[in-house]
Amino acid sequence: MSLHAELGQIPPLRPSVFGPPAIDCDVHVSVPTIRSIMPYLDDYWRQNFEMRGIPMTSWNMTSDPPNAPISGRPDWRPKAGKPGTDLNLLRSKALDDFGTSFAIANCVFGGVAMHSEDMAAVVCRAANDWIAREWLDREPRLRASIIVPLNNPEMAAEEIEQRAGDKRFVQVLMLAMGEQLLGKRHNWPIYRAAERFGLPIGVHAGSLYHQPPIAGWGSHFLEDYVAQAFGFENQVLSLVSEGAFQKFPDLKVVFIESGVTWLPACLWRFNKTWRGVRAEIPWVREAPAELVRHHLRMTVQPFDEPEGGQRLERVVDQLKSDEMLLFSTDFPHWHYDGTDALPVANSSPLARKILFDNPLATYPRLSADIPAREPAQ
Ligand code: ZN
Repeated sequence: MSLHAELGQIPPLRPSVFGPPAIDCDVHVSVPTIRSIMPYLDDYWRQNFEMRGIPMTSWNMTSDPPNAPISGRPDWRPKAGKPGTDLNLLRSKALDDFGTSFAIANCVFGGVAMHSEDMAAVVCRAANDWIAREWLDREPRLRASIIVPLNNPEMAAEEIEQRAGDKRFVQVLMLAMGEQLLGKRHNWPIYRAAERFGLPIGVHAGSLYHQPPIAGWGSHFLEDYVAQAFGFENQVLSLVSEGAFQKFPDLKVVFIESGVTWLPACLWRFNKTWRGVRAEIPWVREAPAELVRHHLRMTVQPFDEPEGGQRLERVVDQLKSDEMLLFSTDFPHWHYDGTDALPVANSSPLARKILFDNPLATYPRLSADIPAREPAQ
């Protein structure tokens, strides 16, 4: 049982600025400097870090440069330091301004990319301790994703087991472009542990930069950010084709900051080609799009839409499911102004699905925390 559940501090649901209660499935918290997590390391690793000069390095993810305009909306940046490092700003701008009942904090953390498997494991554990102490203990509306050493799935599974007792951790965090494609058996120990503890796999935009995207290294952050969608597309093909969803029938995968509108075209090509060569993957007995509809969810920011009316409704129609999209602000990233984070009219029946019903159905640990009742209007 979580600390807050034990203390009876589960916050009440409340109407959001959109009307229905909101569960924000992507807000960001950032480790300010490596020194921030040093108190959570043991003596051996603290001394090791000092000896090697590691605290002098930034460990910022190249895919999330803190000074790029997209990384921090001007009114969501702290006066000093990186975006996502100020709890009071997150409280007022990401939670209060939207009327959010719960938000899931994703810490895109450079420690996951370490080539040393031992070091990656200890810094991920320290960062998870830091998230629990510095954010979750101080803000009861926050939940978080578990950071894991992506290069060593056995060690990642150990971290999931270690962390699973704290029910405020509701998801395991991976990246769109890692060492190997997500469907590969190499990654299955992570899925086995996640399924066992009722944790979806959140796949956030980002790369370990151990492998180039698609055909080679680009030169600019611009290319890298746009190419994230291609990385996600690859992962859909891999997860389905390798049989991950047959092996782990209860596994849910959430694409975070992936964009949305590329998926219907991808599934059309996937289904069409599968009909011709499905003998190659006999374990996939239903059309890929059916599996994707069952297992995959996506956050809505940034929503990659052309101009015109009824846009999100059209995408939902093409996906043949109104259960796949989850509300997100992507705080503090800059994709829109004001509170314009919901890509559908407040009056649409889809609004409540995206804001509340779908997130609640996706995250079993949240539904255990939230009593089945309507908020006071
Ligand atoms: Zn994000």
